[in-house]
Amino acid sequence: MSKQQLPQLPPMPPMPQTPLTGSCQCGALRYRITETPLTLYCCHCSECQAQASSAFGMSLRIPASGIELLGEYGSFVRDPGKSNAVEGVFCTDCGSRVVHRGRGEDGSSSVKAGTLDDKSWLSPVGHIWVASAQPWIQLDGLIYQQQPDDDYAALIEAFRDQQAAAKTTP
Ligand SMILES: [Zn+2]
Ligand SMILES: [Zn+2]
Repeated sequence: MSKQQLPQLPPMPPMPQTPLTGSCQCGALRYRITETPLTLYCCHCSECQAQASSAFGMSLRIPASGIELLGEYGSFVRDPGKSNAVEGVFCTDCGSRVVHRGRGEDGSSSVKAGTLDDKSWLSPVGHIWVASAQPWIQLDGLIYQQQPDDDYAALIEAFRDQQAAAKTTP
């Protein structure tokens, strides 16, 4: 694992007050995030690339109890039986994935940040699994070749710093 210094980020609006809201692509499955998110990062693992059918997944990490799902949903469990099994929750009408609920000990979930109603404040503080990142991607912030080995502590701290700076910027 290698880390880089967090660069000077351009001014951006701070995260809105909770609850944060969002929905699947068709709007049938909505959600409310009721607890303050912990961090925001991009994941370049091959699972996220396939799931997002894109270059990477953008994950807003939240406490497991911090989300309410409003509407019908289906779920897909990746690696059932493993300690790091993840349940992907999706809209049964349009198929959009909205949240990954961790089943491991760390007890947190990741909202797929592209489903938020307000995306104006999103600015990832780091990138994980860059070992499988697509070659054209420009990276900044905290860089991890694979899974963070500190239980996301540095990413959580960088996000806190970023939000504190955003609040004090006029
Ligand atoms: Zn939908
Ligand atoms: Zn991933």
